Amino acid sequence: MKSAMDRRSFMKGVAMGGVGAGVSGLAATTAEAQGADAAAASTVPRRQLGTTGETIPIIFMGGSRTFDMKYDRSLHRAHGFGIEYIDTAEKYGGGQSQKGVAVFHKQVGRDKVWITTKVEMEGERTTGEGLKKGLDDCLADLETDYVNMFFMHMIQDPRYLDPEFIKAGDDMKKSGKTKFFGFSCHHGNVPEMISKAASVGGIDAIMFRYNFRQYGDVELNKAMDAAKKAGIGLLAMKTQSSVPEDLEKVVEFQSKDFTLPQAKLKAVWADERIDGCVSQMDNLQILEENATAAMSPVNLTMTEFHQLNRLARMTAPYACLGCNQICEGKIAGKLKVADALRYLMYHECYGDPETARLLYNALGVEERDYERVDLAEAIKACPQGIRIDERLRKARAVLTA
Ligand code: SF4
Repeated sequence: MKSAMDRRSFMKGVAMGGVGAGVSGLAATTAEAQGADAAAASTVPRRQLGTTGETIPIIFMGGSRTFDMKYDRSLHRAHGFGIEYIDTAEKYGGGQSQKGVAVFHKQVGRDKVWITTKVEMEGERTTGEGLKKGLDDCLADLETDYVNMFFMHMIQDPRYLDPEFIKAGDDMKKSGKTKFFGFSCHHGNVPEMISKAASVGGIDAIMFRYNFRQYGDVELNKAMDAAKKAGIGLLAMKTQSSVPEDLEKVVEFQSKDFTLPQAKLKAVWADERIDGCVSQMDNLQILEENATAAMSPVNLTMTEFHQLNRLARMTAPYACLGCNQICEGKIAGKLKVADALRYLMYHECYGDPETARLLYNALGVEERDYERVDLAEAIKACPQGIRIDERLRKARAVLTA
């Protein structure tokens, strides 16, 4: 068995014409990039999105960023791969993401782009009417009169699946302002949210945290089965579930076909209940790497799956799964364990220390001051075995420095 391709050898293979097309355009001019875009050799596979009657690419563009307002090469290049689905949100990119998507859809044609956008359920948005107003605000920023799908963003409270909000979703669909309606969730009791969605009707798709660390999660699997049976499209997010680079190397991933990030995606696609994965592909290298994995007909071997399982086991104490109802339920007060650990992950793994610092420092004092509360029961309850006290100490040290 050969060593796994690292990103550098992946790039070498591409530049030699082994996979994809036009990646040497990393240093190309805009005109060259446009030429490369037109020369895409193939497109990524598609799957049915629940019972919507629509198909979507199995990998699609995450929009938690800003885009080039003249010509965004990553969006155009993705489009060349058949990745026309962009996942944005009102707040992404400091409010600029939707505006970048607007520029893009006017360049390629609105009907050539699938736009999903989302609003957070806060302030005036916490009612059905407020949610509808949220869609209107998004449409204004997106400079379009409809989106393909509209989500309640990062919801944790099952009350957002009560009739008031399901009816709002139906109203918005009937108005033609959105074709489909659903929600995203990656914190709190995700299985409970998915199960409830399966029983209430009116939800077309759910985007939720799903990755190689969660195969054995019985509750999540039951919820996914119920959702699938109810015809709900399932979209995976946070598929990489990264830990700091030195820890990822604790298992030297060996594969003749895939890099470790590609294998993590392949593991999610191996679950046929998943219709597509969102990925933050903000540079051409990651885009090419992901698209290549998506287009490869080769499946993961059992040996590769075992390596991922081993990686999951060995790095669990550094990989928070966002199940904050477990740890925060054991803590008196308002400490936000999962949020703080997520921001630490942005710092350690995403190479985005500025965003991590901004988000962490936006937490209230009680939300981040771990020293005033007893964490013993929370540490005992954590399914990942995370030393919550140590990780929160690290978060404070690096994110307030
Ligand atoms: S610290 Fe543990 S219990 Fe708390 S959200 Fe993370 S994984 Fe879940």
